[in-house]
Amino acid sequence: MPRILDLSNYSTRLEDVSLILGEGLCSNIYVVGRDEAVVIDTGVGNPANPVWPQLEELGVAPGNVKGVVLTHAHHDHAMGAFIVLQRANPKVYVHKQDARYIASHLGPNLVRVEDGDTIPTELWPLEVIWTPGHTKGGMCLYAREKGILFSGDTVFPDGNYGACYGESGSLQEMIVSLRRLSELDIEVMLPGHGWPVFEGAGDHIKLALSKASRHP
Ligand SMILES: [Zn+2]
Repeated sequence: MPRILDLSNYSTRLEDVSLILGEGLCSNIYVVGRDEAVVIDTGVGNPANPVWPQLEELGVAPGNVKGVVLTHAHHDHAMGAFIVLQRANPKVYVHKQDARYIASHLGPNLVRVEDGDTIPTELWPLEVIWTPGHTKGGMCLYAREKGILFSGDTVFPDGNYGACYGESGSLQEMIVSLRRLSELDIEVMLPGHGWPVFEGAGDHIKLALSKASRHP
């Protein structure tokens, strides 16, 4: 079963934020808040990543799930949303450019968002930063007052960035997205796969920008 981490143990900025670590080829799942929880990415939705046992261990019952945010529509991030929707009735926020891949399955729960929109949580607002490059509708979520970035598959620790060769990927767009992120004040990076960065995340993003820019 996937491991659950209470991220407040790693940074005081992350009070009431938890991480359900993906098992196998599955995204991380971040849970923001408890009573009116917002779930950022939902994993691959297979039997090894069943979502609800982990949410319940965190004290999040179906009635407590108010929102789901998908950083992009790849199945390893998005298919778990259907497990969530079996028992809860949250809004599901997807960037308008990726929503077309999933819209017909989400029905009235879908909320299409775009750059500059704000998604409410019980802790702090999340700004939508549109970051195409890995997919056309990829987005990061930025808690500006805390310097926290949920970075999806756009940028990872140690100068790594998301693959750009997928159907709607683009290295040129990735470079623009990374440049934009590098100009934000970011201390904590919570990526779509692997281990977070709890301090100095801006340096990791700048490294990713310089690596992507040097790419032939
Ligand atoms: Zn992806």
